[in-house]
Amino acid sequence: MAPILHQLTENITAIDLQFQGRTQVVAAYLFYDGDQAALIETGPGITVETLLEGVQAAGAPLEALRQLFVTHIHLDHAGAAGILARQLPWVRVYAHPVGAPHLADPSKLLASAARLYGDQMDALWGRVLPVPAERVVVVNDGDEIKIPGTTLRAFDTPGHARHHHAYFDAASGLLFTGDVGGVRMPGARYVRPPTPPPELDIDAWVASIARLRAVKASGLCLTHFGLFRGNLDWHWDDLERRLVAWGEAVREELAHGASDDEIVRRMQNQIVAEMERRGVGVEAYDVAASYQHIVTGYVRYWNKKK
Ligand SMILES: [Zn+2]
Repeated sequence: MAPILHQLTENITAIDLQFQGRTQVVAAYLFYDGDQAALIETGPGITVETLLEGVQAAGAPLEALRQLFVTHIHLDHAGAAGILARQLPWVRVYAHPVGAPHLADPSKLLASAARLYGDQMDALWGRVLPVPAERVVVVNDGDEIKIPGTTLRAFDTPGHARHHHAYFDAASGLLFTGDVGGVRMPGARYVRPPTPPPELDIDAWVASIARLRAVKASGLCLTHFGLFRGNLDWHWDDLERRLVAWGEAVREELAHGASDDEIVRRMQNQIVAEMERRGVGVEAYDVAASYQHIVTGYVRYWNKKK
C-alpha cells in the first residue's frame, strides 16, 4: 500500500498504517532528526510492511531506526514489536514495567487476545513474535528518555490498561496519548472511550485524564487517530463525560438483570443515535473500539468491583 504520511513538525511524521485497508484508524509516530529515528507505536504485525515503507518514505533509512516506544502492549499498538526486533536486530523496545514482560513472552497476552478475537486473531493482527528480553527497556513514570531531536517524558496513565504510558515531547509540546486520550477521528467533535476488558478502570482513567490535562500540551497525538490542536480541555471533557456516563448506563443495565447481549444492543443503538445526531461517521470508530469490547470492559469492571 502506498504510504500515507502526515508531517506534524519538522521532525515528527504520523504514518497511517491503513489498518484493514482503512485510512485514519491506526497511526504510528516517527521522530527523525536526519541521523537517527524513533517510533511511538508499532501498530499490529499485519501492517508492518506499511509501517516500514512509511518510515522510509519519510526519509529515514531503516538502519536509522533505533528506538521503538509503545504506549501499551495491546496488539494494535505493539503487535509488530517482535517482528521489528527480529527484522531490525539493533532496535530496542521501550515499555511500561507491567507490559515489558509480556513483550518478551507474549503467551499470556495472546491467550487473553484469543478470548476476545477467537480464530480471527491472525487475520486481524498478524503474527506476534517475542522481543528478546535483553532488548526490552523498562520505562518508569517520570522517566525522561533522549530520542532523535528531543526528549520524551513518560506518564504512567492507567485506566484503559494497567500497562499504559503517555509520552510528552516538550520540544514540540505534543502529547502522545495512546488510548487513554480516547478515539477521535480527524475533523470530528466526538471522543469515544475505548473500554475493553480486562483492565478497564474508570477511576484510574479519570485520574489519568486529570494528570494529562495538567501537562498543558499544545496538541494531542492519538493513535486512533492523528493530531488535535485547539481546545484540548474540550477534548478531555468530552472523553471523560462519556467514559463515566457509559459506565453508569452499563451499571444500571446490570442492576436490572440485562444480559451482555442486550446491553451491547442497547448501548450500540444509543451510541449510534448520538453520533448520527452529531453528524459523526461511526465506521472508523467501530474498527478502533467495537461495542462488544466497550460493553464487555464495563461489565467486567463492575463485576470486579462487587
Ligand atoms: Zn488501541
